[in-house]
Amino acid sequence: MSSAPRRRPVVAIDGPAGAGKSTVTRKVAERLGYVIVDTGALYRVVALAAERAGVDFDDAARASALAESLVADSAVQLRRKDDGAMQVLLNGQDVSLAIRAQNIGQGASKVSAHPGVRAALLELQRSQGREGGVVLEGRDIGTVVFPDAEAKFYLTASVDVRAQRRRDELAARGTPPSLAEVLSEVAERDRRDSTRPIAPLRQADDAKLVDSSSLAIEQVVELIVATVRTVERQLSGQV
Ligand code: C5P
Repeated sequence: MSSAPRRRPVVAIDGPAGAGKSTVTRKVAERLGYVIVDTGALYRVVALAAERAGVDFDDAARASALAESLVADSAVQLRRKDDGAMQVLLNGQDVSLAIRAQNIGQGASKVSAHPGVRAALLELQRSQGREGGVVLEGRDIGTVVFPDAEAKFYLTASVDVRAQRRRDELAARGTPPSLAEVLSEVAERDRRDSTRPIAPLRQADDAKLVDSSSLAIEQVVELIVATVRTVERQLSGQV
């Protein structure tokens, strides 16, 4: 992939479910004044659209055709609200909350394993980040979407810590499922995401590993911001 020189880096934050990527990405982007691209939201929208259209998540041909038509029709949009929060639109309708349902998370993990779905969303993700000054969070940003990203991080935490965080997040939105249920859901998603043949979840060779198991969110944010600032200086020829 060729790209013009960037003065502000593309920041890739990959990692498994529940590692704190969304919160960290939002805070890092705020501190740097960068744009956020939540790539998981795109896979979630495809899963939601599949559910609504009665398409089985495991049906590769139909899920891929659906993803292609959503992209061709510009039916999926990520919009930044005035308060900085991201809004996800499907055919003009705000689905930001609907895509966070647990079954849609599992559905996203299933549809994202189909090469046709990944191919349909690839260019959309690249077009969002090409200019730099952007933080993309996902599973394969540093390995596939932007292999030449100037700042790459692999954010992880132990499976127990991630399940607990996920449960707290779901509890804040309503009735929390049991910890055992969330733990098995997180483990199942990890297994599927890291063993799929195409663009599996893995740390890019040049990504910085950040284990947040025993770090506060602010410490993780600080570490990433400091690294990106150094990259910014290098890109502007100040180092
Ligand atoms: O990050 P989030 O939990 O919203 O992602 C939902 C699912 O989308 C993940 O479990 C993963 O299977 C898929 N995904 C992906 N590649 C990305 C982002 C998300 O395969 N870059």
